[in-house]
Amino acid sequence: MTHDADVIVVGAGPVGLLLAAELRLAGAVPLVLERLAAPSPQRKARGVGPLAAEALARRGLGERLAAHGAAGTADKARDHGSEKGHFSAIFKIDPDLQDEPDRRGVWIWQPELEVLLAEYATGLGVEIRREHTVTGLAQDDDTVTLTVVAPHGEHRLSAGHVVGCDGGRSTVRRLTGFAFPGTAPTMTTRRAEADILEGADRLPPAGRQPRGILHYGPGMLATFDYGDTPEDREAPLTAEELQNSVRRVTGVDVTVAITGETLRVTDHARQAATYRRGRVLLAGDAAHVHSPMGGQGLNLGLMDAANLGWKLAAEVRGDAPPGLLDSYTGERHPVGARVLHNTRAQSALLAPGPHTDALRDVFSDLMDLPEVNRRLGDMMSGLADAYDFPYRSTHPLVGRHCPDLTFKAGTREEHLSRYTRGGLPVLLAPDVRPAGPWRGRVELVQVESIAYDGLDAVLVRPDGAIAWAGGAEPDVEGLETALRTWFSR
Ligand SMILES: Cc1cc2nc3c(=O)[nH]c(=O)nc-3n(C[C@H](O)[C@H](O)[C@H](O)COP(=O)(O)OP(=O)(O)OC[C@H]3O[C@@H](n4cnc5c(N)ncnc54)[C@H](O)[C@@H]3O)c2cc1C
Repeated sequence: MTHDADVIVVGAGPVGLLLAAELRLAGAVPLVLERLAAPSPQRKARGVGPLAAEALARRGLGERLAAHGAAGTADKARDHGSEKGHFSAIFKIDPDLQDEPDRRGVWIWQPELEVLLAEYATGLGVEIRREHTVTGLAQDDDTVTLTVVAPHGEHRLSAGHVVGCDGGRSTVRRLTGFAFPGTAPTMTTRRAEADILEGADRLPPAGRQPRGILHYGPGMLATFDYGDTPEDREAPLTAEELQNSVRRVTGVDVTVAITGETLRVTDHARQAATYRRGRVLLAGDAAHVHSPMGGQGLNLGLMDAANLGWKLAAEVRGDAPPGLLDSYTGERHPVGARVLHNTRAQSALLAPGPHTDALRDVFSDLMDLPEVNRRLGDMMSGLADAYDFPYRSTHPLVGRHCPDLTFKAGTREEHLSRYTRGGLPVLLAPDVRPAGPWRGRVELVQVESIAYDGLDAVLVRPDGAIAWAGGAEPDVEGLETALRTWFSR
């Protein structure tokens, strides 16, 4: 049967856009369906973590990303009063104390990131159909058929696979019947561009309050409200709801006029039990939702896309080694679970009351210990996470994500990212001959030396994960096992 595309990606948010680009790069034909007529201007995420920044730099987007970074850093310092990272709004995670201080995220507002990714994906030939809302889904042994509502009417589209990148309230997840277990909200954040017309003089200073947290400043008002959860999470935030929340949190009555963007988000934490059911997969917020505490959602979702893209493309091409597509859930589900876990801890540590105040003081002191600071930094960045591969390796870097290594090839000094733009895996080694049968499927780069302690040779998957690494005496058998596990000859 002919399909409309190899893969239909539902949702042109950051995750759907990157996934579509990765699929295209690896030879599959994706089609992106998006219900919105134009990209959302909503400023949700203000940045991407180091792993996602590196994933984008591997595709040649590093400079464009960095061009936004300076303004983003200034915005962040202004709004948070600190350039440091935080755990549960304790701004003490010090980039300079981390094991690899040069591996940093980039502060870029989400709408700007989406423009950058949309341009990148369409530049590769990805088709995005806007005002196309998916309302129905059926799958059989070789096809997924979607019902789509568009301005010209309802119609059907089919593909070999469908990936739901359609956000936290994913229609694809619901229609496919993915289980989505987790925990209910304990706290609701409400934020608005707003003026306080009456009662501002009675408000306490911004910060922790008897029943939550209050933030306000010129033209903005926000509450972290542990006293109620909204009945209708889809309804727009109103002035009345915000006033009620200020009263609950502080005990003070104010009159508010909303002047611009509003946002309501809870800390419910849920994760799809598996990321694949038959020919339907999930990525990004469709696969996991959690509080935005610590700004981890984009990092997590973009790395889902990076992990899935090349695997699904290999499945489409028909040359995926056994188990490759299922390794997507195997690798990404535990990472998502860890993020849910730390956001729950952050919500608990933010709860109002004298006992939590005391706990926060203790925790804040502990964060002054470099070891604790590093552990929390690793937790928020994911830099120390390692995938559990189906083979043994004694090298500590295997399973972790590779930085943009500098190495010597002949007389030249080069960077790994020069070889990763095309989306192929890369082998850097003094002797690349053992990988000869994979030539054309793997970039083989003969190197004199790599500027990284204890690393003389490395095999990097398209998603940046280190599949194999060699020290002074590289283990050639191990290299062949890694090559066979991930890539066809
Ligand atoms: C207040 C707030 C602050 C945040 N701060 C950060 C931060 O600093 N750092 C960070 O990393 N993350 C942050 N996040 C999280 C981050 O915004 C999300 O993780 C990210 O948007 C997920 O991207 P996505 O592509 O998976 O989903 P989305 O961005 O939700 O995109 C989904 C897309 O699918 C479309 N869609 C939905 N249903 C359909 C359908 N039926 N048919 C067709 N299209 C459909 C939607 O219109 C949308 O365009 C924050 C979130 C919030 C709410």
